Amino acid sequence: MAATETTASAGARRVALVTGGSRGIGRAICLELARAGMDIAVVYAGNEEAAQATVAAVEELGQAARAYRCNVASAEEVDATVKQVIADFGGVWALVNNAGVTRDTLLARMKEDDFERVIDVNLKGAYHLVRALTRQFMRQRGGRIINMSSVVGLMGNAGQVNYAASKAGVIGLTKSLAKELARRNIRVNAVAPGFIATDMTDALNDQQKEAITSQIGLGRLGEADDVAALVAFLASPAASYITGQVISIDGGLSL
Ligand code: NAP
Repeated sequence: MAATETTASAGARRVALVTGGSRGIGRAICLELARAGMDIAVVYAGNEEAAQATVAAVEELGQAARAYRCNVASAEEVDATVKQVIADFGGVWALVNNAGVTRDTLLARMKEDDFERVIDVNLKGAYHLVRALTRQFMRQRGGRIINMSSVVGLMGNAGQVNYAASKAGVIGLTKSLAKELARRNIRVNAVAPGFIATDMTDALNDQQKEAITSQIGLGRLGEADDVAALVAFLASPAASYITGQVISIDGGLSL
C-alpha cells in the first residue's frame, strides 16, 4: 500500500457507498468491492427487493451491507442518507456515483422535464453525494470517488441529448474535483462504459442491439462485471497514482 494511503482511518477505509447498487452495474460493483474486503452501503431509488438481494449477496461474501432508499436528485435525501451511513458504518472510504437514468428521444420531441430529470439524477445526484461526503473525506485525510460517465458523454449519441449532456458534465465535475482534492489524498476518477448488458440496455430492440454490436471492435456488449473490475481497481491502492482520469471500457466502440 502506498505510504499516503496509511494516513486514513482504518475503519472508514473498509466502507464503500455505491449509488444505484440494487441492479446492473451497481450491483456488480458492490460485489466486487465486497470481494476486495469492503463493507457496502447500497443506495437505491425504489426497488427494495433488488437492493435487499444485493445486501444478501454482499453478506454471503462475508462483508457487512445495508440498503438505503434515497433519490440522489434530492439534496435533502442525500444529506440525510450520508449522515445515516456514517452513523451505521463509522465512515466512508470509497464513493461510487453510479445511479443513472435515461429518457431517450430526439431533441424535437424531448420535453423539458425529460432533460431536467436526467440531469438531476445523473449529474446533480453525483454533485449532491460529493458535496455531502467531501468534508468527511478531508477529515479522515483520504478517500476515493469514482463517477459513472459513459461513452455517450465522450462521443454524443442521437436521441440522447439529455443523457450525453449529463455524462459529459460528470467528466467536467470529475476533473475539476480531482484538482481541488488531490492535495488531500482524495482521488477522483470517472469510467466511461460503452454498451453493457443490463436493464438499461435491455430496453433496446434487437435491431438497435445489432447496429450497436457491429460498431464494437470486440463484437459484443460488455458485462457489468467488466465495469466492476475497473471500478474496484480505481478504488484500490494499485491505482494510487491515478486521479482526474476518464477511463473508457467499451470493447473498442470509441476507437
Ligand atoms: P440500471 O440497470 O438501469 O440500474 C440503475 C440503478 O440506478 C438502479 O440501481 C436504480 O435503483 C438506480 N437509480 C435510478 N435512479 C435513481 C435515483 N434517482 N436515486 C438513486 N438511485 C437511482 O442501470 P445500469 O445499466 O446498471 O447503469 C448504471 C450506470 O452506468 C448509470 O449511471 C448508467 O448511465 C451508466 N452506464 C450504463 C451503460 C450501459 O450500457 N448499461 C453504459 C454506460 C454508462 P432502483 O433499482 O431502486 O430503481
